[in-house]
Amino acid sequence: MARYNGPVCRLCRRDGMKLFLKGTRCDTPKCAFERRDSPPGVQQFRRGKQTDYGIHLREKQKVKHYYGVLERQFRRYYQQSARAMGNTGDTLMSILERRLDNVVHRLGFGQSRAQARQLINHGHITVNGHRVDIPSYQVRPGDIIRVKNRAKSLDLVRANQAEQQRQVPDFLSVIEADIPEGHVLRLPEAEDVSIPVETQLIIELCSR
Ligand code: SF4
Repeated sequence: MARYNGPVCRLCRRDGMKLFLKGTRCDTPKCAFERRDSPPGVQQFRRGKQTDYGIHLREKQKVKHYYGVLERQFRRYYQQSARAMGNTGDTLMSILERRLDNVVHRLGFGQSRAQARQLINHGHITVNGHRVDIPSYQVRPGDIIRVKNRAKSLDLVRANQAEQQRQVPDFLSVIEADIPEGHVLRLPEAEDVSIPVETQLIIELCSR
């Protein structure tokens, strides 16, 4: 699956907020957004007032950057949430939160979603005892996410856990055992998203 390979700090400056895409560095004075929060590029001072479309687009881009998904996959998630019962915006955020790379990151096994994605791709993570190497895999309540029982996988995850003290969201729980594991307690809700998102703007843009 394609992914963005460019400089990620630019994305924070473009979206006007810290998206925490670089793991522990984001909490240090080295954070690029802390030092310069203006939009990237030499044209920044010529830009005028943001249009209505621009405001809607920025909100969508912010969510895409935060979860590390590209346009086509995001559109698919939107269509899936539009077909589902209930509030489309809340369903969309729930689908994004249920991605395995997001869950691995929020359990503290990976410092960032990008690193969590790499852990999954390289086979360090199992779901219900089976190796899953698809970062977009949707977890379900009752799923058990465990680090693979081999020295390399355990060392990687333990080093990440030691380096960061992440607050685990209410829909997950971490079991501190010889082999770190996390449980999915329920479906994530809009309140479980750790950045402010105006889902209404995203839905208005996608439904045009
Ligand atoms: Fe964003 Fe983290 Fe870079 Fe800061 S260090 S600009 S929060 S990715």
